[in-house]
Amino acid sequence: MPAGYHGTILHVDLNTGELTTERPAPSFYRHLMGGSAMGAAYCHRLVPRGARALDPDNVLVLAGSVVTGAAVSGASRLTAVARSPLTDALGDSQCGGAFAAGLKFSGFDGVVVSGQAPAPSYLLIHDGKAQLRPAEQLWGLETAESEAALRDELAPLKVEVLQCGPAGERGVRFAALITMSSRACGRTGLGAVLGSKNLKAVVVAGRSRPMMADPEAVNALARWGAEHYEDSAVHGIGTFGTASVVRSQNAAGGLPTHNWQSGAFDGWESLDGKRYSETILKGRHTCTACTIRCKRVVEAEGEPFAVRPVYGGPEYETLGMFGSGCGIADLPTVARANQLCNAFGMDTISCGATIAWAIECFERGLIALEDTGGQRLHFGDGAAVLKLVEQIGRREGFGRLLGEGSARAAQVLGRETEALLTTVKRQEMPAHMPQVKRSLGLVYAVNPFGPDHESSAHDPTYPGYPQRMAELGLVDPQPNAVMNREKVRFARLTGLLYACQDSLSVCSFAFGPAWQLFGPSQLVELVRAVTGWKVTLAELLRVGERRLNLFRAFNAREGFSPGDDRLPDKLFVPLQGGASNGVALDRAEMEQAVRWYYEDAGWDMGTGAPSHEKLRALGLEGFLT
Ligand code: SF4
Repeated sequence: MPAGYHGTILHVDLNTGELTTERPAPSFYRHLMGGSAMGAAYCHRLVPRGARALDPDNVLVLAGSVVTGAAVSGASRLTAVARSPLTDALGDSQCGGAFAAGLKFSGFDGVVVSGQAPAPSYLLIHDGKAQLRPAEQLWGLETAESEAALRDELAPLKVEVLQCGPAGERGVRFAALITMSSRACGRTGLGAVLGSKNLKAVVVAGRSRPMMADPEAVNALARWGAEHYEDSAVHGIGTFGTASVVRSQNAAGGLPTHNWQSGAFDGWESLDGKRYSETILKGRHTCTACTIRCKRVVEAEGEPFAVRPVYGGPEYETLGMFGSGCGIADLPTVARANQLCNAFGMDTISCGATIAWAIECFERGLIALEDTGGQRLHFGDGAAVLKLVEQIGRREGFGRLLGEGSARAAQVLGRETEALLTTVKRQEMPAHMPQVKRSLGLVYAVNPFGPDHESSAHDPTYPGYPQRMAELGLVDPQPNAVMNREKVRFARLTGLLYACQDSLSVCSFAFGPAWQLFGPSQLVELVRAVTGWKVTLAELLRVGERRLNLFRAFNAREGFSPGDDRLPDKLFVPLQGGASNGVALDRAEMEQAVRWYYEDAGWDMGTGAPSHEKLRALGLEGFLT
């Protein structure tokens, strides 16, 4: 009997309605652990070459990992993988909540969905059995309403729901997968993949808990976390949420403002964690077994609509995109934008960044009233921003074009609007600015699923957390605004840890190489305690390396090249105001960093693909292209 996992993967062919169970060999689990690496392996094997993201042939993989369900903080996040409608590359996204543990307790380690249902449907998985059920009654409903309807329909069964909202049904390219109507697999547009398959939701229930190899050791780790939380650096995020970093980001000149024209926002205090706690905050929420409880519950009266607690509160990323990014110094307005995104099922980063880009285009006269459907767009106009969010979710008016994402919209509009983009591989950058955290520029460029702030440690953590960094062999800390050989090592090695964490599907606030509750050696402890495998940190980093190389190999197969590892022009234009006034990235420096990264990673300089030697060394011979 395996420990920590079932050894069963559910395959769902929506074309035929056939549901089958695969029992992969134990070596498959040890090699990939779950989550992102497992999802990449299935997509590589099952998505036909050239299949587009919204074709029935695309495959969506939902998975926790071998440790999911263990009652340890941050151990139970969900990972989704499919070809992305936003980037066209292999897409990846994680979310919190209780769905991942629910999936494990439903009797499966993962679900692989292919094809397209003939009519709107949902998938119910309950204690090792699965069935497809009609979902016409749910189609078009906002996420809180459809989740409530599913809970009513299936009562007294206690269920967890993962769904696409109306935006996913309508093919918005940055549509999210939503659970608890407040947690999002937001990035890379995977909600649109679910919608394209006519699958409204995946619903899980059950009590099929796999045994743990060493339950005492699992409990000891959980206890250590609970006892050390108050004194840990993650305590601030638990208490004030991710909004607590607005102050420090602004002070460093790293708070993207007015579509990344500046790194400092005059209205930052209106968005900060302290103001948040004093005004709209109504409570804290958590994910399965997590002591950190960083999720926000908010409420606000007022026009044009009230903010409802069921949709959760904005994270730092949302504050950076809809707040400073769109010039809105008003928390209730940002909370309303967050609510609309969660109700329609959209990524707040891409949605907010796309709107900020459109506003700058309008203010600079690159687009006009005939492009926007007669709407005037200006930074700070909250009503106009909320209207655009709604239009995108409904795919109406100017929102129809913006729902394609800013990069595709710029291609349609032309007129130098491309120069104002903040995208890499067509995905909008998150709210952490490489101008002041230089290694993020490198990671945003080479990351196979587009720019991401949870794919490596941020520069200030290298000098800030020397003991944990030393566990990764990083003992030569560098200043924030430097990009040199050692910084490339830092980006790559911490990146391998994050890639492993996304394969173990653990939370990168709970586990990581710096300020997180648990350090790298405790990640090793977790895997050992749950599975009984005598893993080492080196073995876990190899899992991360497999994950990254599987993604790169898939992308290379689909025609991606080093030209796609290109940062937007915006990053090379000096910022205005604040602590980063006049700061810009240097092209030659970044190009050199990318070459060093390729060299260290074993990627071909000409194609950007993993070399055959690298794939063989990682035991990925089956993925040679
Ligand atoms: S730290 Fe926050 S996001 Fe991560 S598992 Fe805990 S409550 Fe969820």
